Amino acid sequence: MSNTTSYDYVIAGGGTAGCVLAGRLTEDPDTRVLLIEAGRNDLHPFIHVPAGFAKLTTGPYQWGFSSAPQRACGDRVILLPQGKVLGGGGSINAQVFTRGIPADYDSWERDYGAKGWSFAEIQKYFLISENNNRLSAPYHGTTGPMGISDIADPHPLSEAFVKAGQEYGLPYNADFNGETQYGAGFYQTTTKDGRRCSTAAGYIRPARKRPNLTVLTSHLVTRILLDGKRAVGVETLHKGTTQRFTATAEVLLAAGAFVSPKLLQLSGIGDPADLRPHGVEVRHALAGVGKNLQDHCDLDIVYELNRYWSMDRLEKARPATALAGLQYLAFRSGPLASTVVEAGAFTRSSAAVTDPDLQFHFLPAAGVEAGIAAVRPGYGATLNSYLTRPLSRGTVRLGSADPTVQPIIDPNFLADDHDVEVGAEGVKQSREIMAQPSMARHVKAEHLAGQSTLRTKDDYIKFVKAYGRTSYHPVGTCAMGTGDQAVVDPDLRVHGIEGLRVVDASVMPTVVSSNTQAPTVMIAEKAVDLIRGRQRNA
Ligand SMILES: Cc1cc2nc3c(=O)[nH]c(=O)nc-3n(C[C@H](O)[C@H](O)[C@H](O)COP(=O)(O)OP(=O)(O)OC[C@H]3O[C@@H](n4cnc5c(N)ncnc54)[C@H](O)[C@@H]3O)c2cc1C
Repeated sequence: MSNTTSYDYVIAGGGTAGCVLAGRLTEDPDTRVLLIEAGRNDLHPFIHVPAGFAKLTTGPYQWGFSSAPQRACGDRVILLPQGKVLGGGGSINAQVFTRGIPADYDSWERDYGAKGWSFAEIQKYFLISENNNRLSAPYHGTTGPMGISDIADPHPLSEAFVKAGQEYGLPYNADFNGETQYGAGFYQTTTKDGRRCSTAAGYIRPARKRPNLTVLTSHLVTRILLDGKRAVGVETLHKGTTQRFTATAEVLLAAGAFVSPKLLQLSGIGDPADLRPHGVEVRHALAGVGKNLQDHCDLDIVYELNRYWSMDRLEKARPATALAGLQYLAFRSGPLASTVVEAGAFTRSSAAVTDPDLQFHFLPAAGVEAGIAAVRPGYGATLNSYLTRPLSRGTVRLGSADPTVQPIIDPNFLADDHDVEVGAEGVKQSREIMAQPSMARHVKAEHLAGQSTLRTKDDYIKFVKAYGRTSYHPVGTCAMGTGDQAVVDPDLRVHGIEGLRVVDASVMPTVVSSNTQAPTVMIAEKAVDLIRGRQRNA
């Protein structure tokens, strides 16, 4: 055991939320902050060149998590990549910039008791985080640390997809974060001047020289230190050595939706029935820890193209890669400046639905993400869809009292029949959009991962259960609210424990109706005001 070191705030987890917290809290020179990240520094070029996304869902910058066998999906074990690097998910993600719909946040307040989190009250936190290169008030900010940009040169296939969406009957939508999500269009991404803008880039890089900020990478937080019912620090493991760090003000848990509940459980905070089998002493019974896990269940269709035309060329044709590299180095433009996930759509699964409940991502490439087949030989494109407001709920439980062991993650994908039905409708709509003239002319064949035809509703349901996978959006495992399953209160303080807040995607009571990075940034921005006891005007 080595020495103890003391800070005002100790942040466990240097991902999307942790970097926002550290960057903002150290704006006050009198506040000493320690940010602890289990992964490495974010130095690798694949992290910063947007097209590097295609290399990041496998390899050393993700945890290698996988699910428990999924009962509703034929007991399949599903890969669950999550960022393990400074910047967390924001350093390896597809950079799609969306933030759900106002009704998501209004529901947090109305249905879960998350007072102060209605959209009218949190919108200002989206705005202060954002530095948008095209859009401004009332829906966007232009002076924040997060660079948000249009894709510099959308691929012609992405343009074809957006046209196909219109031929299918969707309006063109120039801003999925504006008046409405509904329609087809191009995503904006978390990019600044052609480089990925994670929260490590946007919030930590400018703060690095501050003497009041200490960043430790490759340090695994193993538990929260408690003095009775007060959190007083954390214990870490680094190269086989255990260290302790004291927080005189607060410990801020920001290890993401899979590990924040695990760290609470390892520290004796959780459902006693989950702790006792592993010999973990119950320090504070809190039934909701690790419950309420939600994720969007992604459904991909890969298309073989009739011309050598997609971004697969970057993988397969060296001259194309070299040219793209030169263009990127000289102008920060071209295919490498694209995150690959360029275009998309939001639709409704039926006329009875008011707000869109299906989201689509179009990739002018195939085999980009872990577990998705490439087209060989030939060139491909991918369209995926998911239902944005799933009803299935899963769990995160300890796999062992050993902090180096992966937790048992059970997203319980498609356990609710509603999710199966809407997922099937999403696949159907994917195929209908891709059959429109602007897209159909480029498609040689549909690769349905072994399923030769989808005709009946039963075919679609079988497909959904056979191929549903994570969209990397786990939330909800330390849910905010006031009910008996709530883990944190609306100020993000762990119920019944002093000096401990959870600030990351795990506090969302329900998953928002879109990708989850921007909402997590918003949560951390609001947390800073809560920590400082500060009111902010709109
Ligand atoms: C492959 C992928 C693609 C995605 N695509 C998009 C997208 O296009 N758009 C979008 O909006 N969202 C996307 N997301 C989701 C988004 O990135 C996450 O919602 C967001 O990063 C969650 O932030 P967080 O702070 O809760 O967790 P994270 O960003 O995961 O941060 C948690 C951090 O804690 C660290 N940590 C964990 N355990 C410990 C420990 N014991 N000790 C120390 N450190 C620890 C982790 O290494 C990590 O850095 C994607 C995510 C992934 C993984």
